[in-house]
Amino acid sequence: MDIPKTITCVDCGQKAHIMTPEPEFGFSGGDWVAYRCSGCGDRWDLEVSHDNHNSENSSL
Ligand SMILES: [Zn+2]
Repeated sequence: MDIPKTITCVDCGQKAHIMTPEPEFGFSGGDWVAYRCSGCGDRWDLEVSHDNHNSENSSL
């Protein structure tokens, strides 16, 4: 599963770079990925969303 190598820090607007090395078989839904902001140094943890691109019509 592709996950972003950088995200935008919501605090300062700088790029936050991924810290967690990609597992041998890639990330999967439910994994947690840590980012470190290059601006303010904050850490951000994101949960990898589950792969559901075969059901584009979400029926909530
Ligand atoms: Zn920041």
